[in-house]
Amino acid sequence: MRGSGNLNLPRNGAHRVCEDWHERFAETPDVLKSARRHQTVVPVLDIEVGGDEFITMAGPCSVETEFQLMATANHVRRAGARILRGGAFKPRSSPYNFQGLGLDGLKMLARAREESGLAIVTEVMSEDDVPMVAEYADILQIGTRSMENYSLLEAAARSGRPVLLKRGMVATIADLLRSAQLILDNGNPNVILCERGIRTFETAMRNTFDVAAIALLKQISHLPVIGDPSHAAGHRDLVPALARIAVAAGADGLLVEVHPNPDKAWSDGEQSLDFAGFDDMMAALDPWIELRGLELERHERRGLPLREAAGVRPMEAVG
Ligand code: PEP
Ligand code: MN
Repeated sequence: MRGSGNLNLPRNGAHRVCEDWHERFAETPDVLKSARRHQTVVPVLDIEVGGDEFITMAGPCSVETEFQLMATANHVRRAGARILRGGAFKPRSSPYNFQGLGLDGLKMLARAREESGLAIVTEVMSEDDVPMVAEYADILQIGTRSMENYSLLEAAARSGRPVLLKRGMVATIADLLRSAQLILDNGNPNVILCERGIRTFETAMRNTFDVAAIALLKQISHLPVIGDPSHAAGHRDLVPALARIAVAAGADGLLVEVHPNPDKAWSDGEQSLDFAGFDDMMAALDPWIELRGLELERHERRGLPLREAAGVRPMEAVG
């Protein structure tokens, strides 16, 4: 009993902790697990995010050229990714950096879907662009800088497309859940939460990967949760380790930046894996995914030696 000086844990201790989280996040009731809703599975083409398969979303930070995108799409598909990522509208820290190809980029993504069969996730930055991006994308990504842009969230929700909601770099878990609740309130149940690193006093990494947030979100929310080790780390050498940690923390999937020639990438090259690095990361993840009892749905890869299946050699000068 509280305050009685009795240090024995209550017999229903674990249950009480669970109840406390529900009180703490009581303001966003619909994102929390309940007796009625334990796990949301978000359907994307033939894929289910939050289901029995661990889902890897991979691709370049920015869509640059047809060749860069197609080579990456074909490669990541053979290595086991199910969804192709790539930004056509790029929120950049500096207004003088590459801002993305816009509509041309969206068209390239749609062609990459046709050729590879991968679903497409891409960022939408402005509510005015929602109808156009929703026409080409299978999942609308809300970036870290937009997590609290409520008019954008409402427009994205009403598009009917699944929404990948990235945690703001200075947002608390409660803030993230509020934004998710707003999307649900606007009639869209298909929300995927994404931990992508937050700002702390630590500057060695680009951000601090808040893996406790992944563990907590998986305990309290029925929404699928994915990890983005690329933007968290900021350095490609750290990406495979952070990816494994995300799997161990209970993530339903990953969002990873991959580029045929990261040193020539138009954005985020330092944190992008090359093709061989992506293959190695995926292979190293398998035992961790199996430990979780999830499916390794790697159709194309099955029965093929990985390097051979990968096919494409890293290119000299792409992008
Ligand atoms: C991205 O995914 O390329 C991106 C810009 O991510 P974030 O919004 O997390 O910085
Ligand atoms: Mn990026």
